[in-house]
Amino acid sequence: VRARVMEVTESPEVSYADIGGLEEQMQEVRETVEMPLEKPEMFTEVGIDPPSGVLLHGPPGTGKTMLAKAVANETDATFIKMAGSELVHKFIGEGAKLVRDLFQVAREHEPAVIFIDEIDAIAAKRTESKTSGDAEVQRTMMQLLSEMDGFEERGDIRIIAATNRFDMLDRAILRPGRFDRLIEVPKPDVEGREIIFKIHTRDMNVSDDVDFADLAEIADEASGADVKAICTEAGMFAIRDDRRTIEKRDFEEAWEKIQAESSENEDEIS
Ligand code: ATP
Repeated sequence: VRARVMEVTESPEVSYADIGGLEEQMQEVRETVEMPLEKPEMFTEVGIDPPSGVLLHGPPGTGKTMLAKAVANETDATFIKMAGSELVHKFIGEGAKLVRDLFQVAREHEPAVIFIDEIDAIAAKRTESKTSGDAEVQRTMMQLLSEMDGFEERGDIRIIAATNRFDMLDRAILRPGRFDRLIEVPKPDVEGREIIFKIHTRDMNVSDDVDFADLAEIADEASGADVKAICTEAGMFAIRDDRRTIEKRDFEEAWEKIQAESSENEDEIS
């Protein structure tokens, strides 16, 4: 079971240079996660406890997972990922045990960064979710809180959680000593989108007529994940046309296609 829900990576291949438009967030993650791992004596000397857990919140596809991976990579820490939804929906009755296993695996791989995606699946307010009143979900969350409260003995382990549904969270997990550092990860602004376009086209054969500042303007409202999808789709358009170079119109058509697809999905949901 462990292997199927936990993703353990010795050294994830994401660096800070792969992340666009999140300077402030990167800075905060470095202070709260990287510093305590690399210079624990700073905190002892100053006489403060480093934050135990960091919570990243914001819309889907904005780089939350990337931030967690990059900090693990940069500190040579093992990256251990688990999704809240899998904890409670996939292996019914196993949630609390999986949380214990998660921290056990982390202790065996110190230094380690534990990343819990979709934390709202185990830590929603009772009123907000049909499943959160569930005794099993409650037990899973209590186990997580108790592992976090035992922070002193935890050594070189940092916890990062992420959610797209900040408003749904049970405030108990935000108490001091738990996820007491909140970092908002928003969609990129126009400059951010331009940087993200440049990052994702680094290895692409792009024609000189492509101006990423223009594209960033056009792709209004795109998340980082959308920008990545635009780049891949633009490449597909070139291939379909039997060209080796990606042109401006490929990117534009790609964005149109992605917008059309996402509005279709919204129709399906509503
Ligand atoms: P979710 O909430 O859906 O789990 P997330 O915020 O964790 O999303 P990521 O998994 O980090 O999003 O991003 C998905 C992909 O989108 C990344 O692998 C990357 O290719 C691209 N991406 C997202 N944000 C950025 C960014 N700020 N800079 C560069 N690429 C990005």
